[in-house]
This record gives sequence, C-alpha cells and structure tokens, in this order.
Amino acid sequence: MTQNNAASGNNAVVEVPTLVVGGGIAGLATALGLGRKGRPVHVIERAPEFGEVGAGIQLAPNAMAVLDELGVLDEVMKDAVLPQKKRYMDAVTGKEIATIDLGPEFVAHYGYHYIVTHRADLHSALLKGCQENEFVTLENNRTVLRAENLDGGKAQVVTEDGTTYLADAVIGADGLRSAIRPLIVEDQTVPSEYVAYRGTVPIETVPAEAVETPMVLCWLGPHMHLIQYPLRGGKLYNNVAVFRSDFYSPDHENWGTEEELDARFGICCEQVQEAGKYLNREIRWPMYDREPVKTWTEGSVSLIGDAAHPMLQYLAQGGAQSLDDSLAMVDAITTEPDAQAAFKSFEARRVEHTGNIQRLARVAGELFHIDGIGRELRNNSFKDHVPTDYQNLDWMFMPLRKAPEARTYPI
Ligand SMILES: Cc1cc2nc3c(=O)[nH]c(=O)nc-3n(C[C@H](O)[C@H](O)[C@H](O)COP(=O)(O)OP(=O)(O)OC[C@H]3O[C@@H](n4cnc5c(N)ncnc54)[C@H](O)[C@@H]3O)c2cc1C
Repeated sequence: MTQNNAASGNNAVVEVPTLVVGGGIAGLATALGLGRKGRPVHVIERAPEFGEVGAGIQLAPNAMAVLDELGVLDEVMKDAVLPQKKRYMDAVTGKEIATIDLGPEFVAHYGYHYIVTHRADLHSALLKGCQENEFVTLENNRTVLRAENLDGGKAQVVTEDGTTYLADAVIGADGLRSAIRPLIVEDQTVPSEYVAYRGTVPIETVPAEAVETPMVLCWLGPHMHLIQYPLRGGKLYNNVAVFRSDFYSPDHENWGTEEELDARFGICCEQVQEAGKYLNREIRWPMYDREPVKTWTEGSVSLIGDAAHPMLQYLAQGGAQSLDDSLAMVDAITTEPDAQAAFKSFEARRVEHTGNIQRLARVAGELFHIDGIGRELRNNSFKDHVPTDYQNLDWMFMPLRKAPEARTYPI
C-alpha cells in the first residue's frame, strides 16, 4: 500500500523503478498488474484525490477479462448491472434498428458478461487493489510538466512543484491531454464539434415500462444520440446525450449550449425528449480524439490508454482498450529484458489494433448521426441483423486471454 506525499517538492529528486503518470483506469490497472507480479511501481496523479468524474461506463468482455486477471472482478460486480440487450433505436421514429443479445449465448461466446457500472465503482476497485498491494505506491497533487530520456537508459519526469522523478521506465497514462505525449508525438487534439451532457437519476424517476428489462438503449438521430442504462444494481438510471453544435469554435466556449441541446432533441420521439429532463445542464463535455499514430514509445518512456490512443466514445471501448493495454504492458515488462524492449514489444502488440478502433469510432459516429436518405439506408441495412451474431464484434470484444470457463454472475 501507500499514499506517499512526503518526499517531494522543493527541487527534490525521487528515484523509482517504474513511474506511472496518471491515476485513471489505464494508470491504476497498469500499476496493479505490475504490483501483482512483484514489480515496484509508483503512481503520480495531478488531482488532490484519486477518483473518477462522470457516471456510467459500459464494459465489454475484453475489459472484464482484464479485471478478472487483476483480481478485482468480484469487487466490480458488486454493484454492476448486467444488461441483457444492447438495443439501437431510431431517435425520431422510436423504432428499433438492431439489437445485440447480451444474454447466455453472449457470455458463453466471450467467457464474460457485458456490464454497465458506475465509473467511481470501477475506479475504486482498481484503487483499492493498488492500496492493498505492497509494491504499489501512490501520490496525489503532482502535476507533470514533461518527460525526458536521459543518457544511460533512465528517464526523468518533472512536476509543477519542482520535483524530478528518475525512473527506469515511465508510463504516461495521463489521458487525452497528456503532458508526456509531446516527447513522442507532435500533434493536437481533434475537436469533433460534438458535445455530451450527462445525467444520473434515481430509477423511480423513469417510467417503469422503460426499464423493465435491463438494457443499454442507444437512440440514434440526426446529429445527435442518447445512451441510457441502469446503474448501481438498478437503483440509478444513466443518460448521456450527445449532439453536434453548429457554433463550434476553438476561440470561445459558447457552443454546444442547452438551447442547441433542446433544439436537437426537440425533433425526437417522446422517450428521448423525456430524457432531456434527466440531464445535468451545468456541465458539458466537448468531445475530442486524436489521429491514430504509429508509435507511442521513445526510449524509456511510453504512453498508454487515452494518452496513446484517445478515441471518440461511440464504440464504448476507450476504457476497455486502456485495460487491454495494461495487460499487454504488464506482459511486456515482465518478459522483456529492459524498458526499451518492453515498450517496443507493447507497442507492436497494441498500436494497429487501437488505431483501427480509433478510426472505426469515427465511422460509428457518422453512422449514429446520419440524416436524410442515409438514415433510412442505415436503418434498413440492419433489418436482418441476428441479435446473437457476434462475428463483427469479436475483433474488439474477444479477451486477450480467455478464461478456461465462462465467468458468470447472477443477473
Ligand atoms: C462520454 C464518454 C463516454 C464513454 N463511455 C465509455 C464506455 O462506455 N466504455 C469504455 O470502455 N470507455 C468509455 N469512454 C472512454 C473512457 O472514459 C476513457 O477511454 C478512459 O477513461 C481512459 O482512461 P485513461 O486512464 O487512459 O485516461 P483518463 O481517464 O483521462 O485518466 C488520466 C489521469 O491522468 C491524470 N492526469 C492528467 N494530466 C496529468 C498530469 N499532467 N500530471 C499528472 N496527472 C495527470 C488525470 O487527472 C487522470 O486521473 C467514454 C468516454 C466519454 C468521454
């Protein structure tokens, strides 16, 4: 365990074997994975406390397998919901487009459920795992400014308060706007011109017939969509409303406003319009990704998770891929002779796959939000989709390591 804030600041130099920058899903999962293999690892996080913002997260079987390997699956499952379907609906007509069956056939096929859970529950399960592991140390209030490779194979990381961390391996898990990334890739975040509003309400707020069967509902409409699912053992209902702003500008914040939200959702069916009431209108989440790149590593520094491959959220795979990354990173570090070799091996295993998901997420966005004849064509082309046909999902959902027997939990 440790929560160690003592030995830094005031130009202190701190030496650690492996340094993880960022205590989100990617950073904590990697630290826990290394700790479980007996590798000392130190995590530094900008925020005053480790935690997660936002509400729900969907976790596909690939993510579940990693949580299992990290020994936190039972903890995560305590309050998780097991949706039995993921259903795509036309947001304007209210008619079904296609359904993915997430029931027993799905679980038998992948070896794991598809779950929805509160981000805070996922994060706290990973954090608890780290706190209980003698090889993991954790430190808050450390904002990283940059990383550099040094002669002799080590790397250094400098924080805002003047601390320098020297490490044999530095893993940048600091998300979309990573401070480590500029060492490796010169690029910018790409604005999608879409913005999300989220809201989680007590389940009683929602009409009972809308939540009879636990499912993930994806309402697709012109330049907008809405995702809904139950959370926390079915006590809460999570809503994520996303739409394109006509007024996007990098120069001001006055885009993606409530008025635009209401206008986009105003043409939708009743159930979608109703969800407008469940949203927290105080906070809006502009959506960005980056272009996929061919490398994330340089010398003894590597990126992981959103720092490496930030993607639009339309495939619900950003967090899952961060977890897959963590498993691949732990494999690489524990089998290769040094950090440089480990990072190259990690990158070779992951870069093409995650790049494909980044690209497909953009395509999925186009399909979700298409209007006019395109919308008709989309709806018709999924007409014959068989809910238990998982062929097109295997490449994303199949766990990197499958359990010998399906890990089932009661619904
Ligand atoms: C609306 C929305 C819905 C989504 N839904 C899903 C879903 O259903 N399923 C799914 O799998 N994924 C989903 N995602 C994607 C998922 O949230 C991300 O891919 C995932 O959180 C990435 O984790 P990460 O640890 O790489 O980065 P982050 O979660 O961004 O964590 C980075 C951490 O680094 C810290 N940090 C940042 N900068 C510094 C610094 N300079 N110094 C020190 N620390 C720093 C941050 O405080 C943070 O704790 C969704 C994303 C969005 C926006």
